Amino acid sequence: MPSYKAPIRDMQFVLQEVWSVENLLNTCPNFAEISPDLIDAVLEEAAKINETLLQPLNQSGDQEGCQFDNGKVSTPKGFKEAYQTYQESGWPAIAADPNYGGQGFPQMVNTLNEEMLSSSNVSFSLYPGLTHAVANAIEQHATEELKNTYIPQLTSGEWTGVMCLTEPHCGSDLGLLRTKAESNDDGTYNISGTKIFITGGDHDLTDNIVHLVLARLTDAPAGVKGISLFLVSKHKLNEDNSIGERNHVSCGSIEHKMGIKASATCVINYDNAVGYLVGEPNRGLNAMFTVMNTERLAIGVEGLGLGEVAYQNALLYAKDRLQGRAPQGATHPEKSADPIIVHPNVRRMLLTMKAYNEAARAFAVWVGMHVDLEHHHPDAEQRQQAANFVALVTPIVKAYFTDVGLDVCNMGLQILGGHGYVSEWGMEQFVRDVRIAQIYEGTNGIQALDLVRRKLLANNGEHLAIFTEQVDKFINEQNNNNAMQEFIEPLNNALTTLRDVSQWLLDNAGKNPAEAGAASTEYLHLFGLTAFGFMWAKMAAIALNKIDGSAEKDFYTAKIHTARFFMQRLLPKVFSLKQIILTGSNTLMAMPEELF
Ligand SMILES: Cc1cc2nc3c(=O)[nH]c(=O)nc-3n(C[C@H](O)[C@H](O)[C@H](O)COP(=O)(O)OP(=O)(O)OC[C@H]3O[C@@H](n4cnc5c(N)ncnc54)[C@H](O)[C@@H]3O)c2cc1C
Repeated sequence: MPSYKAPIRDMQFVLQEVWSVENLLNTCPNFAEISPDLIDAVLEEAAKINETLLQPLNQSGDQEGCQFDNGKVSTPKGFKEAYQTYQESGWPAIAADPNYGGQGFPQMVNTLNEEMLSSSNVSFSLYPGLTHAVANAIEQHATEELKNTYIPQLTSGEWTGVMCLTEPHCGSDLGLLRTKAESNDDGTYNISGTKIFITGGDHDLTDNIVHLVLARLTDAPAGVKGISLFLVSKHKLNEDNSIGERNHVSCGSIEHKMGIKASATCVINYDNAVGYLVGEPNRGLNAMFTVMNTERLAIGVEGLGLGEVAYQNALLYAKDRLQGRAPQGATHPEKSADPIIVHPNVRRMLLTMKAYNEAARAFAVWVGMHVDLEHHHPDAEQRQQAANFVALVTPIVKAYFTDVGLDVCNMGLQILGGHGYVSEWGMEQFVRDVRIAQIYEGTNGIQALDLVRRKLLANNGEHLAIFTEQVDKFINEQNNNNAMQEFIEPLNNALTTLRDVSQWLLDNAGKNPAEAGAASTEYLHLFGLTAFGFMWAKMAAIALNKIDGSAEKDFYTAKIHTARFFMQRLLPKVFSLKQIILTGSNTLMAMPEELF
């Protein structure tokens, strides 16, 4: 049976010591009521509910899965009651807008809640997670009437929200979508079509579900410029907003799938369902991006959350499992063998897992802080700067965290050997559960293209500078700190490599249309590694500063060891990535299709 303990000390380290949540609270007036102590209390409470309520349902939820019977979807045993407790305790509202009953906590903090949810029960996390994103999209794009009607119940978690883009013939290429919307005289629309793979499209946790559906108006132009966004409620509402008769929305079936089995993945049919336009006609993708961008950050954090719980369980096992002897001689001669943590290769895997997880946590909180600045900084220019930064790094959080998350979970499984492969220990579930994160919310391949085309090339590298200038500033601050040079030098080399490769893309992508796609995944990984290098250098600087005389010497010493491991054994991958990128697209494109 796997276990989970929320890494509260590391979360506090990142929030307070690395990124000073207090600065954020002092900068944005809307956080005036929130104090660091209150944040600590929230994290402690979140840890409790995740450790004691949600994690114990994770393995049984996987074994039982969701069921579909006679048009109705039911979640596994215990989920309905757990959702009720979760909802009544106010957790869905934690980072939501106070104007609609939310508690208004910073995203910087909410990111850590999301991590805990993904560690404890990622299937469960998807029901409230999508709801939060749907409420955000309605808030930013819908009419006041729709906002007032739907956001309060989404905020409280009384209803859940889902996003409906994918159709059988249309996944990454949304321009192909066919679901249609016909206007009615009363200003509503009739929505007809079939969506597939809809997470939480139907379930038994709440009485109503709010669908945000992409569809095409009858006179819409073809392609992505003819897509509009509609709100379709599973139940129509009465005059007083209470739940009325069923709308013409039905679940056709649910998918049987590799992981996240307690999350209902539904085929949803709309047969002249009544819908309301959200935002402007034919600008639906733009509005849907609000959901997708919020969700992409959350999906990245899924990679981290599952990586963290895999690490915790692999570590417990590695300290307990006795096999073989340490290379320098027995460390536990009184026992029949040494614990496997003595073996260099097992240490390599554990340190890799720890190094990626802790860097991802620091990076996620940094991005969360920019999301807060984007929405709440009093100065418009600062808001725009933060928005540009978030846009730049969103594909990195989504794709790099989840690529790395799969590797981390896989290493966790490997540390348990055969016991990792069988279901009893729960490690194989983490590998199965994390795998989807590389696919949904736009595949990681699409994220990599987004990074190169829209975030680097489209603005001539200007947004990249928002990142590189912050790293430069840190490097310059540390130039006279001798103890830091073992971290600063590799970081500087990685940054130079990122700049060189970015310049190469800016110079070459225009000459050959295949170049951006050919470089994209390696570029995203190079960027991710450099960003993690920055996180480790920052964490090392704080640890070096605090270690002397600290009551938490072990905590800071572990940070320094892990930073050193990252700099010496993981960050140098940037050089091979650069070499691969500079070979260009020829090897990928030269072979004729029929020779495959
Ligand atoms: C469990 C689960 C839950 C999901 N939840 C939802 C949901 O709630 N709502 C929703 O709307 N959808 C959802 N999806 C759908 C998901 O977002 C899509 O599966 C995903 O976007 C990919 O689309 P596709 O499966 O059609 O693959 P395709 O688009 O057919 O892609 C196949 C492969 O080709 C690559 N590819 C495609 N186009 C390009 C290109 N232009 N350049 C380079 N590579 C390309 C892709 O990266 C991928 O590797 C879910 C899917 C699953 C499995």
